[in-house]
Amino acid sequence: MDEALLQAANQQIRSARRSLILSHIRPDGDAIGSLLGLGLSMQSLGKEVQMVLADGVPANFRGLFGSNQICTHPEGTFDLIVVLDCSDLNRVGNALNGNKRPHINIDHHPTNLNFATINLVETEAVATAEMLAQFFTRFDFPITQHVADALLYGLIADTLGFRTYNMTPRALHIAADLMEAGGDLSSLYYRALVRRSYEAARYWGVGLSNLHQQGQVIWASLTQADRHAVGYPGRDDADLINFLSTIEDADVFLIFVEQPNGKIKVSWRSQPGFDVSVIALQFGGGGHAAAAGAEIEGSLEQVQTKVLAITQSFISTTS
Ligand code: 5GP
Ligand code: MN
Repeated sequence: MDEALLQAANQQIRSARRSLILSHIRPDGDAIGSLLGLGLSMQSLGKEVQMVLADGVPANFRGLFGSNQICTHPEGTFDLIVVLDCSDLNRVGNALNGNKRPHINIDHHPTNLNFATINLVETEAVATAEMLAQFFTRFDFPITQHVADALLYGLIADTLGFRTYNMTPRALHIAADLMEAGGDLSSLYYRALVRRSYEAARYWGVGLSNLHQQGQVIWASLTQADRHAVGYPGRDDADLINFLSTIEDADVFLIFVEQPNGKIKVSWRSQPGFDVSVIALQFGGGGHAAAAGAEIEGSLEQVQTKVLAITQSFISTTS
């Protein structure tokens, strides 16, 4: 990471009085963990911070300390805007709400579009939370127990419990440091990856009872009607995609989730050797080699047909 950029980011954060910090729609554990980690650490420095997620805080994250401070719209004016874990500005939804170009972009997606004035993008980092933990240590930001919990949560969530193939010794060292700062590994692990609601389990049931295999691709779809039938409150797939990706003898896994805005959220997961972020980018999305997503216009059937065709041709040219 460029030292001058890190110094500039530190200086901007240190001199800010009123900051807006944002992360992405359909927030995941790294979005929430990074947002809370930075927000709570800056608050410990005595700064006024507004944490905003356009979609608010999903129920499964509400136990995290500080999550009750997260709003869905910014209020007032800001002298610093930081965007976390977003590879492009569409990802923040309407959370900028008329505010200008962000000052700082902190992210680990290879598909990041460098949309801010200072872009800290480190694709070897397994989570944005890992980048923040390093930044905090380097520049003496407070890592209180709550900050450690938030960052450790982000690390656990994005690495599916330290098992994704982008894992590094450095990420494990950082996790150990966060435990030493008071992060509660086992309880965070349980909350991020093991526990699920009754509604989420039934939602999985719907998806799993309608699983398809086409060559090396395994896929499922979830409609708005499915979501309502089981009472699942989120717009996401309740992490069903990460379960699909445990099925042996396939290369790429896909899930299509009908959205209330009429679009289709597509998630890709892959085995090593297939960089699905390349496909997601073609559809205006982004992500990592092994996990990518996009929100695509069209009916469920149209999007399925198109995405499956392009994914199949991608596999045949890659393998
Ligand atoms: P998921 O499929 O679990 O939503 O996301 C997998 C990865 O792709 C995550 O790193 C996530 O940030 C990224 N991703 C998911 N959806 C989108 C999208 O619509 N646009 C972009 N740029 N990235 C996405
Ligand atoms: Mn992330």
